[in-house]
Amino acid sequence: MTRANDRSPIYLYDLNLPALTALLAKWGEPTYRARQLWEWLYIHLTTDFDAMTNLPRTLRTRLAAETIIDRPQIVDTLRSTDGETRKDLLQLSDGETIEVVLMRYTRRRTACISTQVGCSIGCPFCATGQMGFRRNLRSGEIVAQVLHCAREWRAQGERLSNVVLMGMGEPLLNSEAVFAALRRMTDENGFRLGQRRITLSTVGIVPGIVRLAELAEQPHSGLQITLAISLHAATDALRNRLVPINRRYNLDTLFQACHHYIQRTGRRVSFEWALIAGVNDSAIQAQALAARLVGMQAHVNLIPLNPTDGYAGRPPAPADIETFTAVLERHHIPYTIRLRRGVDIQASCGQLRQRSAAAGGGSSKNLSKS
Ligand code: SAH
Ligand code: SF4
Repeated sequence: MTRANDRSPIYLYDLNLPALTALLAKWGEPTYRARQLWEWLYIHLTTDFDAMTNLPRTLRTRLAAETIIDRPQIVDTLRSTDGETRKDLLQLSDGETIEVVLMRYTRRRTACISTQVGCSIGCPFCATGQMGFRRNLRSGEIVAQVLHCAREWRAQGERLSNVVLMGMGEPLLNSEAVFAALRRMTDENGFRLGQRRITLSTVGIVPGIVRLAELAEQPHSGLQITLAISLHAATDALRNRLVPINRRYNLDTLFQACHHYIQRTGRRVSFEWALIAGVNDSAIQAQALAARLVGMQAHVNLIPLNPTDGYAGRPPAPADIETFTAVLERHHIPYTIRLRRGVDIQASCGQLRQRSAAAGGGSSKNLSKS
């Protein structure tokens, strides 16, 4: 990260193009300078002001003195044994750490990024939930994770193609920063990430879902991303336990919001279901899930639980997964069983940070570590 001496630094990735233009105008620079800087930041992915050779030296010096380009430092890296998934623990300027995961699929190069340090929701099976909430990320800190992954792919001659907001934190409890970051990433004159290549996973913050539907509808500046809902249970009694926010937004309220979203955007919604043996893998839950989804533009992602230190649950045996999916098939509910990428590298959100803390900063020895 580039440091500034100023008491209240300006984080460049926090600014959109109009804000950057205003800043440089205040410094007496012509409008086109902002566009030039924008291209260094989002097309060349540069973090070194000295490399911005088409900017006058005086401007480069002032930028270096008064602004900061967020560049979180890698403090730990784990690679899956198949080499297709890598997880980086990144340290922010205040010393907090967050996780990003880089995943290589046949055609996609995906970055899974965090939106908060910790999370206030407290889903018991989730390593991030187990650590509690620490703080929101700034939009620039969210942008910086995407650019970190993009640089890593670029160094291997590849291009980042997809972004999933499924790392640490609840994106719709930090929605202004998240939406601002997504706008920056999808800017046609900058990073140019395709809107449809972004998936936002939420635990079901209803006002946030309504806001997403509104954003998607805006005629020229619409933000059309894929919405994934972490459902995990199809009865209120069970969901209250697994996803405590259900006490505030219960299943009826949540599904009302999802129907509204589909109606307004015409887009399919994904439902995430972490299968936990003896907890939510019963035919009764599958039946209740099917009843909710019949006739809806929906898709179910079944993810066998990735065990975490603070939760005794285990993934179901394959035969029990089959019993569950047979019910979905009977009701013609489309589903995918997602073998979670990189179980051997603790790829569920929050797990590397948890490991790292437990090991006093480094990660546990029995993991394949770079
Ligand atoms: N807070 C958001 C996004 C981050 S979590 C949300 O909950 O949707 C991303 C996904 O990982 C969620 O579907 C979450 O339920 C799931 N997840 C968390 N811990 C897991 C674990 N140990 N095993 C399987 N899935 C898990
Ligand atoms: Fe937070 Fe999502 Fe983890 Fe639940 S699953 S505690 S909402 S990060």
